[in-house]
Amino acid sequence: MDVVAGGEFAVGSDKFGIGLLNKRQENFVNSAYSSVDEAACRELNRLYVEEGIISTCKPGCFHCCGQHILTNIAEAQALAHYIKRKFSRDQIEDLRIRTQQWHAWDITRPGRHHPTHIDEQLTFSAYHYCPMLVEGKCSAYSMRPIICRTHFVCSNPSACRPFYDPESIEDDPVALKSVMAATNPFSVRIRDHIENAGFNFYGSIMPLPHWLSIEMNWDFAILPQRKKSNSVI
Ligand code: SF4
Repeated sequence: MDVVAGGEFAVGSDKFGIGLLNKRQENFVNSAYSSVDEAACRELNRLYVEEGIISTCKPGCFHCCGQHILTNIAEAQALAHYIKRKFSRDQIEDLRIRTQQWHAWDITRPGRHHPTHIDEQLTFSAYHYCPMLVEGKCSAYSMRPIICRTHFVCSNPSACRPFYDPESIEDDPVALKSVMAATNPFSVRIRDHIENAGFNFYGSIMPLPHWLSIEMNWDFAILPQRKKSNSVI
């Protein structure tokens, strides 16, 4: 049973993405995550038993955390709420710096615009992984988004490395798509939850670092453009 029957965001569509959500909504997202994890586990087991396929994903591997991680408003707000509850002041400050560095890196990529409020002199390394990653581990593992929970491959892990990593290889990763399919009914619950609250699910999808900066109310956040015919953006 859903913890929150109807969509319940702490903000109205006129203030998209800014503000705290309540604990009930974090519980709703968590409940969907539990179902997603169980379904992923069942499917990984079935793949092994029935088809002899073993995922090459292993604890300690974080190559896919260098990809652009997309998430939606409900997961982003649940993650921000978790961070505000669980992280110390220093951890939040470190996360803020990593997220700002990610933004600085992101806007220097070809074809990106340069908002004036990003400090152009900000120092950043050539490689940018998800700001939630700390010493090779997800610092919010229990609240990582669905995209992180359902990405399993049976290919060389180096194929998951981001393009800017010198150790990346040309081969594309071979994702275990049946794991995503098995978890989809539970991911859909989050989509329905967002749409029942009057938001556009697809319109709310953005890279996780963008969502982090908005939900944490950091001054370098890049707010999404509103679309004329759309209730969300
Ligand atoms: S949220 Fe966690 S698991 Fe997902 S990309 Fe970021 S560090 Fe990796």
